[in-house]
Amino acid sequence: MNGINTSIFDLFKIGPGPSSSHTIGPMKAACRFLQTAQNLPQEQVRRCDRIEVFLFGSLSATGKGHGTDRAVLAGLLGWKPETCDSEAFVALFARPDDSYALRIRDVSIPFIQQNVHFDRVQHSYPFQNTLIFRLVAGQEVMLEKEYYSIGGGFVLCKGESEPPSLPPAYPYTTMSELVGLIAKEKISLGELILRNEEAIQGWGRSRIDKGLDDIIFAMLESVERGLHAEGILPGPIGLPRKANALWRQQHHPEHISDRFLMLVSAYAIAAAEENASHHKVVTAPTLGSAGVIPGVLYLLKHHDKIPQAELREGMLAAAAVGFLIKHNASISGAEVGCQGEIGAASAMAAALLSYLHKHETRRVANAATIALEHHLGLTCDPVGGYVQIPCIERNAVGVVHSYTAYILATADNPRESKVRFDQVVEAMLETGRDMSTKYKETSEGGLAVCVSIC
Ligand code: SF4
Repeated sequence: MNGINTSIFDLFKIGPGPSSSHTIGPMKAACRFLQTAQNLPQEQVRRCDRIEVFLFGSLSATGKGHGTDRAVLAGLLGWKPETCDSEAFVALFARPDDSYALRIRDVSIPFIQQNVHFDRVQHSYPFQNTLIFRLVAGQEVMLEKEYYSIGGGFVLCKGESEPPSLPPAYPYTTMSELVGLIAKEKISLGELILRNEEAIQGWGRSRIDKGLDDIIFAMLESVERGLHAEGILPGPIGLPRKANALWRQQHHPEHISDRFLMLVSAYAIAAAEENASHHKVVTAPTLGSAGVIPGVLYLLKHHDKIPQAELREGMLAAAAVGFLIKHNASISGAEVGCQGEIGAASAMAAALLSYLHKHETRRVANAATIALEHHLGLTCDPVGGYVQIPCIERNAVGVVHSYTAYILATADNPRESKVRFDQVVEAMLETGRDMSTKYKETSEGGLAVCVSIC
């Protein structure tokens, strides 16, 4: 690997909930298929009468609960995750017999829910979350593409490795290399990530700042909306929202000493409940974990009054940790369980907190290490395939872990730490490899089989 060249804007993506790998990824895959189909000769397209989509692995096991069929349709309609209207998205396939007209060149092709096939859970494709799209004329397949949703909304087409991009200014692949580079170049962590982003995207600083502001705004907005919302979350579980109740409770005199934990938990849960409602949230690094970093940001913005420029810098530190986990292990619940989602989010949030408290890079790395270390082995077992139980409360636990990790790291000499970030990431990958597929977003084990939703 020639250095991590993932963009901040691929890690933090704005889009509809509830799952980056099951909603944003499939939507992007469908968009890519649509674009490829638009390049077919007109006479070929005119013969086509349908598009068939096959979902494998965890997408098949829990795709119904995650709205994967709706995400595929949205992508085939040409909708983009970051700009699609939440209400219109939620309304797709509202009735089982709804039919939509897909436009390929000047041809209209009908698409119904039965065109999405929830295929085999066990399979031999190289990635757990696999999608196959076919454009068909009678019995003849005119175009077939195989995509993999690899977590955090990232998508690869068969034969691709990572999406192509320009090389980073400061190549690194591990935390120890990153810490060494920062010492050698005498720049801050935020500055290094920013210069890499400039090199990877070919963008100027003002454009990057604007992009970060949009992400921060979307995160804070998801918390704000969630705090004011009440009622029951969509889906058969009938789970009541909790963020608003927690937020109001903190004013009661008996909760004075609970106030901090109540607030930060309410903030994280607010964004997670917005995710479960299929509303607009941000992958951080996934949508299942969309409440952890926003919970911390909301606290820093509204209680500590941290200025916007500093919040942007904190996001860069969080991104550095997310990149390292993504590239050296995984940020996908379907690949390594929830340690890759809530664990990664908690480590990123711990780094953000530590960095904004002006700690040196080694201490920032230690905060992330502690947060990730204590999520090792965390399984993914969403009840009924819905990103609700245990996912929503787990965001609150993740945000509290991140705060604890940041505090614990302040008491260590970062040069004498017995456990290093890169070692924990390695352990996470090993643990994920050993984990049964029952605990990788298939809803075939753990809480998903022990908790009844009837
Ligand atoms: S259990 Fe964790 S990894 Fe699984 S869907 Fe929920 S948040 Fe994501």
